[in-house]
Amino acid sequence: MNRPAQKKNNKKYIFITGGVASSLGKGLAAASLACLLERRGIKINMLKMDPYINVDPGTMSPTQHGEVFVTDDGAETDLDLGHYERFTSLTLSRKSNFTTGQVYLQVIENEREGKYLGKTVQVVPHITNEIKRRILVAAKDCDLLLGEIGGTVGDIESQPYLEAIRQFAADVGPENVLYIHLVLLPYINAAGELKTKPAQHSVKELRSLGLFPDVIICRSDREIEPSIYEKLSLFCNLPKENVFSSIDMDSIYKVPMNFHRQGIDEKITELLGMWTGRPDIRDVEKVVHNIEHPLREVRIGIVGKYTELIESYKSLDEALHHGAIFNQLKLVPLYIDAEELEKDTDSPSWDALRSAQGILVPGGFGERGTEGKIKAIEYARTKKVPYFGICLGMQLAMIEFARHVANVKDANSEEFSSKGSHVIHYMAGQSEGGSKGGTMRLGAYACHLEKGTLAHKVYGSNEISERHRHRLEVNNKFIEELKNKGMVISGVNKEMNLVEVIELEDHPHFIGCQYHPEFKSKPFSPHPLFSTFISASDKNQVQK
Ligand code: GLN
Repeated sequence: MNRPAQKKNNKKYIFITGGVASSLGKGLAAASLACLLERRGIKINMLKMDPYINVDPGTMSPTQHGEVFVTDDGAETDLDLGHYERFTSLTLSRKSNFTTGQVYLQVIENEREGKYLGKTVQVVPHITNEIKRRILVAAKDCDLLLGEIGGTVGDIESQPYLEAIRQFAADVGPENVLYIHLVLLPYINAAGELKTKPAQHSVKELRSLGLFPDVIICRSDREIEPSIYEKLSLFCNLPKENVFSSIDMDSIYKVPMNFHRQGIDEKITELLGMWTGRPDIRDVEKVVHNIEHPLREVRIGIVGKYTELIESYKSLDEALHHGAIFNQLKLVPLYIDAEELEKDTDSPSWDALRSAQGILVPGGFGERGTEGKIKAIEYARTKKVPYFGICLGMQLAMIEFARHVANVKDANSEEFSSKGSHVIHYMAGQSEGGSKGGTMRLGAYACHLEKGTLAHKVYGSNEISERHRHRLEVNNKFIEELKNKGMVISGVNKEMNLVEVIELEDHPHFIGCQYHPEFKSKPFSPHPLFSTFISASDKNQVQK
C-alpha cells in the first residue's frame, strides 16, 4: 500500500498569557492543564517567563512577591514553579524560570564579549532570540512544553516575550504551537451580568501584536452563560468550542477536574494533533473526594512573624493541606503572631495556641518574634502537643531544649546575638546578612536517617534528599549534652557532618528538620512529614 511518509513527531508548545488583570491564577491554570496532559501520557515540561527586571528572584521581598520557591538544583525561583511541581510529577530546575533581567544580562555579556560582531544590539532580534533560545533549552527533554508569560498583556515589560512567542510559531511551525489566553470576566452588579468587553480588548491587543489565541479561558466568580461564549467567539475570532471557563473554586485542587469536565485537555490535544488515550485521573478524583468529604477538622497552630504568615508560606500552606487531604480531614490553620505570645498568656494568641491540636514553627529569618516561637515550642514539648519545626523552627526547638532541659541557660543562635552559647551557628563560609541571596546552603542535600527513630518510620527509608535554604547550622559541640538529656539526632548529612533532623525521646510526635520538606509535597503524594504530623495532631484531641 502506498502510505504517505510518516510525519516527524514534532515537539509541541503551549504559550499561556493573561489579560485584563493580574493575579488571575495563570500559574494555577497552566499547572492544572499540565496535570491533565501528563495524565494522558504526554511527556511534558513547564517554563515560567517573568517580565520583571530582577536577575535573582531569591532576593525579592517575600511580602511583595510571595514565597521564594527552591528547586533541587538550588535555584530560588518564582512561586508559580511550586504550583507546577505540585500538580505534576516534574522536578524543575533553574532552566524552568527566567526573568527579563537574566535575558538582558546575557545579551549584554554577549555584546561585551563581541559575540554580535559590532552590530547594533536591539530588542528585536537580540532580546527575542535570547528568549527563544531559553524556550528551546527548557523544551529539550519533553514532547510538550507549557510556557507561561508572567504579567498581563498590555504591560510594557511583556512585549518582547509576546514578540518572541509570535516568532516562535514561524520558527517551529504554527501547527506545533498553541496560544491560550486567560482573561477575567468582571461581574457588574448594576447590570447583573458578566462583561466581556475587557476580554475583547485584551484579545484585540494580542492581535495587534500578531498573536491569535487558539483557546480562551475565562476567569469569573460565577457560572458563565452560553451566550457569553458565543459573544467571545464572535468578537475574538475563534470557535465557541475553544472558549472555556475557570470559575472560582473553594480548593485549587478542584481546578484540573473542572477543566477536564469541560474537555479542555481533549481540545488541546486535538488542536495540537496529539492523539492520546483518555487520561487516568483517579488520583485527581480521590483528592477532590477527600476535600469534599472530610471526616472532621484538624486545628494546626502556625507560629510566625505576622507579615510572613499572610504572604510568604505558600508551599507550607499547601503541604499542610496535602497532609489533611490525605487523612481525609479539613485543615483549620490558626495563624499565630509569635510576638503576641511574648506578652501575657491571656491573649487571644495564647488561646489559639492552646486550642491547636498540632503546633508548627516554619522557616524564617531575623530575631523578631523568636522568643515567642520558643514559648510555643516549650508549650508543645511540655504539654505533649505534636510539634513540627522547619528550618528556623528546628533551630529554635534546639535552643529551647538547650535552655530549659540541658541547662545551657544562655543558648542562642549566632543569627540573633554574638553573645551566649551558640547552639546554632554560622558555618564557615556562610556569613551574616539576612535573607539576601549569596551564601546560603541552597537546594537538595542528602540526609541519612537512623533506624529506629520517628523520622525513619515516617520516611520508611534510610537515605533521603531534601531542599535547603538557610545559612546557619546546628553546632556539633553541643550535641552530646543535648543527646544525654533526651534529644535524638535522627537525620544527618554524613558528608558534611551536619545535623538534619532532630526529635525527642519522651514525646508522642516532636520533630524538627533543617531542610524545607514543604517544597516536595504534592496533593497526589503528600510529604510524609506532613501527613504524619497531621495524623498525630488529629489523635491529639484538645478542648477547642
Ligand atoms: N535564619 C535561619 C538560617 O539562615 C533559618 C532559615 C530558614 O528558616 N529558612 O539558617
